[in-house]
Amino acid sequence: MQLLLRKAARYPTFHFSTFNRATRGCKLAFQIRDAIILLYHEPNNHRSAAEVLNRYEAVIGLEVHAQLETLTKAFCGCSTNFGDAPNSNTCPVCLGLPGALPVLNKKALELALRASLAINCTIQERSRFARKNYFYPDLPKGYQISMYELPLATQGWLDIEVEGAHKRIGITRLHMEDDAGKSLHEGFADSDRWSYIDFNRCGVPLIEIVSEPDLRTPAEAYAYLNTLKQILEYMEVSDCNMEQGSLRCDANVSVRLRGAPKFGTKAEVKNLNSFRYLSHALEYEIERQIGILESGGTIAQETRLWNVAAGRTDPMRSKEFAHDYRYFPDPDLLPVSASHLNVEGIRLSMPELPAAKLDRFQREHGITPYDAGVLTATRSLADYFEAAVRSGAPGKAAANWISVELLRRLNETGKDIADCLVRPEGLAELLKKIESKEITAASGKKVFATMFETGKSASQIVAAEGLGQISDSGAIEEIARAVVAKSPDNVAKYRSGNEGVFKFFVGQVMRETRGQANPQLVNEVLKKVLAGS
Ligand SMILES: [Zn+2]
Repeated sequence: MQLLLRKAARYPTFHFSTFNRATRGCKLAFQIRDAIILLYHEPNNHRSAAEVLNRYEAVIGLEVHAQLETLTKAFCGCSTNFGDAPNSNTCPVCLGLPGALPVLNKKALELALRASLAINCTIQERSRFARKNYFYPDLPKGYQISMYELPLATQGWLDIEVEGAHKRIGITRLHMEDDAGKSLHEGFADSDRWSYIDFNRCGVPLIEIVSEPDLRTPAEAYAYLNTLKQILEYMEVSDCNMEQGSLRCDANVSVRLRGAPKFGTKAEVKNLNSFRYLSHALEYEIERQIGILESGGTIAQETRLWNVAAGRTDPMRSKEFAHDYRYFPDPDLLPVSASHLNVEGIRLSMPELPAAKLDRFQREHGITPYDAGVLTATRSLADYFEAAVRSGAPGKAAANWISVELLRRLNETGKDIADCLVRPEGLAELLKKIESKEITAASGKKVFATMFETGKSASQIVAAEGLGQISDSGAIEEIARAVVAKSPDNVAKYRSGNEGVFKFFVGQVMRETRGQANPQLVNEVLKKVLAGS
């Protein structure tokens, strides 16, 4: 088989599964986003694009940076508030002015320890901050403070689930560091000539969590990042707001033939700051590397950047990242000694982990694993559910209404649960009305819609719209007799044994009562009326 690789100028994002079969017969062409591979078909050696991809497996490790949820920076008292006026949250320490001395933020250390415990890491007896030296305009100190040879914690793990299959992913290390400022290259009238710098972010506390190269597919990488994000949110370690840069992700990616003992040469892909970018960039990068290997080339060990607009990874200029960071221990900061820290106290005060909550919800409230999974997807949703149950809502009903009615409306309106006008107590009040048959479930949905739009209580809406359930059997009987009298044909069918017609009569009565009649009573009364008594 002969293989040709041709670089194509700029192809739009082009997924593998849509490969081009323009040349049928003697040769098969397919396209890997920025390259076209022609596989010359020989008898008994026909390979499809999918077969080529399947011969390889990817090896992926993620480096995740999370901003710790502190009010002040890692080594000074400046505010970490997002969105404040540029350069308003700065001081001699975070600007790196001569003589300024850093002091470690105790809260930041506690949060980093909490994160370490939550991802099953061993806290190191001794860890130390180092200076990572490089020059960049957004780094006024001339170095980043980061743990290097002695990280805070090592050897952890996380369990992930992909399509029902469980897998344990190793975590190499967790260390603390501070963030750099932000260069603003766009958005100003003179942006063609000048770049602006905002130092508010300088010195904001971060943790970096480095996974083992245990991930094999973009789906596993997605599940890992999602699980990690969920844990950090639950632990109140980080708000993990990806739009505001509180959670950032880089990936180390290589490919190898399935069964090959050694890893291939890896490329580091930066700037994967959303779940979508992570999936797309990994898919792209894996296909790119396979394309090179299939054409007989070799993979360069390099840093690449996910180019969102073009939908591909581009190499970063090698000079820009060919660093010798000249790490050395920071002489201004004391080493961190675990025996002086109340690690057990932190362990005992940790909030419940998502997996534990998932089990407990099923046990305590008798809800399905699926519903429990939906409700524990975020801490805020789980808290909402528990608050509703505490206010008297039946567990199963609350789970149903939240995962169906509430989430649907939140999705439709793009609202966050924190801004939702229906508070957990309000939902509980509505569900109690339905349970006690004061209103029907059908009316309940109408009431809920109004509650969601206006923030009014269920009682107010039921009273104003006259939605109270009709439980007066006399009133229902009157309506039932009228309905039956209108359909003598169906009455005859029913009496001749066609029980299916019964539903028709129920539907008619419910329509006449705008869905407010007590359904059980409607059944009883209709049976009596149709029996001719
Ligand atoms: Zn400061």
